[in-house]
Amino acid sequence: MNAKTQLNRKPSRAVFDRNGIYAVLDEGLVAHVGLIAGDTPDVHPIVIPMLYARDGDMLLLHGSPASRLLRNAKGGRDVCVTVTLLDALVLARSGLHHSMNYRSVVVMGCASEITDPDAKVAALDRLVEHTVPGRSKQIRPAHDKEVKATTVLILSLDECSMKVRTGGPIDDLDDLDEPSWAGLVPLGVFIGEPEPDEGSTGDPVPGHVAFWSRGPGQVNGRAG
Ligand SMILES: Cc1cc2nc3c(=O)[nH]c(=O)nc-3n(C[C@H](O)[C@H](O)[C@H](O)COP(=O)(O)OP(=O)(O)OC[C@H]3O[C@@H](n4cnc5c(N)ncnc54)[C@H](O)[C@@H]3O)c2cc1C
Repeated sequence: MNAKTQLNRKPSRAVFDRNGIYAVLDEGLVAHVGLIAGDTPDVHPIVIPMLYARDGDMLLLHGSPASRLLRNAKGGRDVCVTVTLLDALVLARSGLHHSMNYRSVVVMGCASEITDPDAKVAALDRLVEHTVPGRSKQIRPAHDKEVKATTVLILSLDECSMKVRTGGPIDDLDDLDEPSWAGLVPLGVFIGEPEPDEGSTGDPVPGHVAFWSRGPGQVNGRAG
């Protein structure tokens, strides 16, 4: 953590535990990647949602070489990557004290491109594994032309911060006699039944698909 990643508001909600940061990044599915794009006079901020994966102390991003964000990022523009997990709506007795329980991580830095083909394949497999653990061994290896047609960036987690809110509403004492309902509405990832495409109809759904899950403390497998 440094001056850029130091929390200003409610610093008591900061989490410095590296494993806590890894757990949020491993549970999340979507990162919002921001940078300052464009050239004078059209310089402007942009934030784009993307898939990502954590690999040790690094983050991986990928996409088309035509992606404006990736082109800017690999050209040396600093990026800011945010991953947010929503755990609950927090309903208080006043609008002011409504809140959300969340875990979020902000990573800043300058990404670099992975160009070595083997390292690129490993990174692409890691992106698949992040999203669906166990999947990369169940699908054909990437073709060379697919690897060439994909840009992969890697970003250090050196500069990052994590913030967490847990617990119920924090109402003013004067409001505790108010008749309004207060408490938590827990939120999570909804997982529907897997829907086979036409080519897979009748095949048993493999375990890595049937038991896919996402949530606090879950690796891959629905509870029960
Ligand atoms: C959940 C999710 C995961 C994704 N994962 C990836 C990924 O891993 N890699 C990847 O390359 N792309 C991913 N995308 C798509 C990504 O958000 C961009 O749309 C894509 O990279 C196209 O970039 P571009 O260079 O064509 O667009 P840009 O040239 O960067 O954008 C041009 C304009 O298009 C609009 N725009 C672009 N993307 C979006 C969007 N998603 N929603 C609304 N408006 C948009 C904006 O107004 C932007 O200014 C993901 C999208 C979602 C929602």
